[in-house]
Amino acid sequence: MEFQTVNPATGEVTARYLTMETGEVNAIAAASDRAFRHWRKLTVAERAPFFIKLATVLREHADAWARLITVEMGKTIGESRAEVEKCAWMAEVYADKAAGWLQDEEVVADGQRHIVTFEPLGVILSVMPWNYPFWQALRFAVPSLLAGNTSLLKHASNVTGCAFAIEEAFRLAEFPENVFRTIVPDYETISDLIASDVVQGVSLTGSTEVGRKIGAEAGRSLKKVVLELGGSDPFIVLEDADIDFAARGAVAGRMVAAGQSCIASKRFIVIESVAEQFAARFAELMGELKMGDPLDEQTQVGTIVNEFALKELEDQLAQAVELGARVLCGGKRRPGKGFFFEPTVVIDTTAEMRIVTEEVFGPIAPIIVVKDESEAIAVANASEFGLGGSIWTRDLDRGVAVARQVESGTLFVNSFTKSDPRMPFGGIKNSGLGRELSHFGLKEFVNIKGVNVYGHG
Ligand code: NAP
Repeated sequence: MEFQTVNPATGEVTARYLTMETGEVNAIAAASDRAFRHWRKLTVAERAPFFIKLATVLREHADAWARLITVEMGKTIGESRAEVEKCAWMAEVYADKAAGWLQDEEVVADGQRHIVTFEPLGVILSVMPWNYPFWQALRFAVPSLLAGNTSLLKHASNVTGCAFAIEEAFRLAEFPENVFRTIVPDYETISDLIASDVVQGVSLTGSTEVGRKIGAEAGRSLKKVVLELGGSDPFIVLEDADIDFAARGAVAGRMVAAGQSCIASKRFIVIESVAEQFAARFAELMGELKMGDPLDEQTQVGTIVNEFALKELEDQLAQAVELGARVLCGGKRRPGKGFFFEPTVVIDTTAEMRIVTEEVFGPIAPIIVVKDESEAIAVANASEFGLGGSIWTRDLDRGVAVARQVESGTLFVNSFTKSDPRMPFGGIKNSGLGRELSHFGLKEFVNIKGVNVYGHG
């Protein structure tokens, strides 16, 4: 089947691809399995230099690959370049730390020796989204490969160019053949792969709906699965926060990739005594952002990924306005070519509004006014999601205390949510299961093996 990729800034078709035949996908999977037999024999320390080289390759090609990201999914060129650089840095962090993180552990029990070892599983399939085409794919692949697995990438179809560029990065870094491969299968072939004896685990980053499907398929075949799904992160402003600082953080947190990030701040929960001041400053800053051609270095806000997603934003906002929400800035798509939506701040929101209950994948920021800290926590937790979140306060101990009560995988005090290879990342509730990054991510696709030694006689 032929499909095409479209530049969301212009609406123009940029490339056409063919879905791979099932036989071709199976042959690549078999080659990945054969590569595993050799790759697994290397020590982690022997694998690490490949990842240092990968970081160098990523940096050497940063300009070209950043441009490809921007043309395929519409984030600004500055964001795309930062994404490639972050991948290079993450590869270096893992190359440096993985051997230590995967070292055997000695446990004291009733025998002579009790050793815990971490051994690779085999071929791991990753199914990835378009919003961070390099980061999401490599955030999974780097630790998984360092642990000794091999990997197949099925990327979102609108970033197929990025998928092949990532495969090229591994080739240029001189990884052994077939340790990392990109495949372009249809959905049925993905299901068959998950059920096959070749694939030993699945990592999906994407929507909750697709997460349920892939998770169910993996469960049916008893395959290890990690699911990184949607979010509606709370951004809690307490009455003792530095309001200007918090408003700037709100802009940065909401507007990453034009609001199309799983960990974008999505619900702005503000104590009533500072709500008016915060809302005014937040709307003022959002209104100043420069939206336009994402390849222009001066542009601060790029595009929405496609017409369908743009229409969804319009519908979510229209329902809120119908129920009494007030738009403080923005609120409309930009007329003309491309898929642009104005940075938007909304107040007078209620719990029935879709912009509060659903994941809003774009630059709409609903402000929810609450009377005190405990109501803020209750509202933050009244969500089907539990991915990230942030708390803004001058009292750091209070910030940590509130963070402990928010049902989420990652919390920040006085910063918007971001990922870091040294810290675990992942969600609870409908935001998914399992963890990526840090030593926790490294150990998701390993056989945690106990070797118990007793004396003879
Ligand atoms: P998506 O529609 O769920 O797609 C994700 C991946 O699944 C794509 O590769 C897609 O391929 C594939 N897919 C879709 N339907 C499938 C099916 N029936 N069977 C097998 N594979 C299928 O998500 P998206 O629109 O790309 O990404 C946005 C979502 O991802 C948001 O909800 C966002 O919050 C979430 N996300 C989560 C994280 C996290 O770390 N938690 C990070 C980034 C994004 P096709 O493109 O070919 O359909």
